Amino acid sequence: MAVDSCLSSPVCPPVNEKFAKALQFIEEMTRNADTVQERVLAEILARNADTEYLQRFHLGGATDRGTFKSKIPVVTYEDLQPEIQRIANGDRSPILCSHPISEFLTSSGTSAGERKLMPTIREEMDRRQLLYSLLMPVMSLYAPGLDKGKGLYFLFVKAETKTPGGLVARPVLTSYYKSDHFKTRPYDPYNVYTSPDEAILCSDSFQSMYTQMLCGLLMREEVLRVGAVFASGLLRAIRFLQLNWRQLAHDISNGSLNPKITDPSIQERMAKTLKPNPDLAEFITKECEGENWERIIPRIWPNTKYLDVIVTGAMAQYIPLLDFYSGGLPQACTMYASSECYFGLNLKPMTKPSEVSYTIMPNMGYFEFIPHDPANPVQLSREAPPQLVDLADVEVGKEYELVVTTYSGLCRYRVGDILRVTEFHNSAPQFKFIRRKNVLLSIDADKTDESELQKAVENASVLLHEFDTTVVEYTSYADTKTIPGHYVIYWELLVKDPAHAPTREVLAQCCFVMEESMNSVYRQCRVADNSVGPLEIRVVRTGTFEELMDYAISRGASINQYKAPRCVSFTPIVELLDARVLSAHFSPAAPKWTPERRV
Ligand code: AMP
Repeated sequence: MAVDSCLSSPVCPPVNEKFAKALQFIEEMTRNADTVQERVLAEILARNADTEYLQRFHLGGATDRGTFKSKIPVVTYEDLQPEIQRIANGDRSPILCSHPISEFLTSSGTSAGERKLMPTIREEMDRRQLLYSLLMPVMSLYAPGLDKGKGLYFLFVKAETKTPGGLVARPVLTSYYKSDHFKTRPYDPYNVYTSPDEAILCSDSFQSMYTQMLCGLLMREEVLRVGAVFASGLLRAIRFLQLNWRQLAHDISNGSLNPKITDPSIQERMAKTLKPNPDLAEFITKECEGENWERIIPRIWPNTKYLDVIVTGAMAQYIPLLDFYSGGLPQACTMYASSECYFGLNLKPMTKPSEVSYTIMPNMGYFEFIPHDPANPVQLSREAPPQLVDLADVEVGKEYELVVTTYSGLCRYRVGDILRVTEFHNSAPQFKFIRRKNVLLSIDADKTDESELQKAVENASVLLHEFDTTVVEYTSYADTKTIPGHYVIYWELLVKDPAHAPTREVLAQCCFVMEESMNSVYRQCRVADNSVGPLEIRVVRTGTFEELMDYAISRGASINQYKAPRCVSFTPIVELLDARVLSAHFSPAAPKWTPERRV
């Protein structure tokens, strides 16, 4: 097989034998999607046959799809919570998986206000590593010469905890950066970062970011790509530069390190690299001191070929700002992954974000799809198992909810993502990420759903009782015009006695109570990562929500079925609301957050 037939119209041929092999692997997997899926399912069922979970459904050792589909229910996290809790509490028996659970990955999805805990096994790290190893071979087909320079990536570890049974619980990327896979990775000219591992592994987010930015500036001419995991992270780095360029330029000018950097391993590392460079300091000062930050990325890092950031899904809101700071550099969305399972990659990473499709790699897990009709969502019950569609059988143009069965022991687990099939690469479908189910607001890693918002509004409204005031209607908006972005909640109030209306202090306190009511990922973003700003309540004048309804009806909504939207993003609606704001209030303090779980 001609390797360069792997991917439609690449710009360059594979650069070396290793890359050619990786591309060939993608070809093999995607050509044989259905067979690979059958094998993956059989492997998972065979190795986990004696687990308590599979025994419960009497598969009798069967490893075929028919038996699996007829006997195993489709589940959500809540269904598995008793099993997961037992594992967390220290039960080491084979409950979900025959291999020992090595740690929990904490998903940014939440359940009862806390991060979901995803059990994982040691070998999953290899599977994730395999997917990572495919990214550069694909990228190099479109962006040649990436071995001639470095990547400026802002990468961070986050807090970790231990479950009562002693297993570590942490986000998947923290697990990866702390692993030997990452720390002792062999030299690879295609994966050289400007950030030293000491900075990536520093848990203090200021020291980590400062050092990563400093090194990025020191090596500015070598930088060929600039990235972060999500778009919000890259924008936070730009904001950080806006706030800290003076001190950074000072360090570069004198060859000395900011005294706020107290981490000994970073100090030691930087002592070796930091030398006085007044010319560079002057250049940085010249670029950063003015008001104009347009195209700041190519101005400071002139050899940048593309931005490596995920801007599909919730992060699409950041595309215009990234365009502004990068002067329209390509935004490459390379992979689609989750704590449950790494799914796949984008075979045409330079396509513009609105046209990105991900190819799910059939070797990563066993994938099924619930047909999704937004007007008619499927209610799944154990009594009536629905017809789930296999990976190779999905249809172009249709939407589906993703269901995964993993080597770590999740069986027919609903991930919560809605995907649309765009086309096929060989016999493997390619999916556009449409949205995550039930997510109303998201700024960074936070995801707030309708019931969480409702609860937060209810908790805050209690403070209004003594003023004989109620919240008649509310909606919300993820304001990302400033970095970090923040939640805006529009409130229409019924104040019985205007002479005794809630004071500004009380409304600010309402903001705080709302924040306290949010899930732990939101609070972590607010407190530890500073990636979400203080929540704002905008009180709108009486009748605003009726006007909102009139507007929706004028655009074709049915009067009978009209419900106030709990989140808005359409500019004319946001403008309508903003034009009726009577007062704005911000949360006066950060909510409580510790890595420990509240339950
Ligand atoms: P987590 O629960 O923190 O592991 O986050 C996984 C979720 O992030 C996925 O289920 C998706 O909803 C979202 N996600 C991951 N990769 C992408 C991507 N490339 N585009 C859009 N959303 C993504």
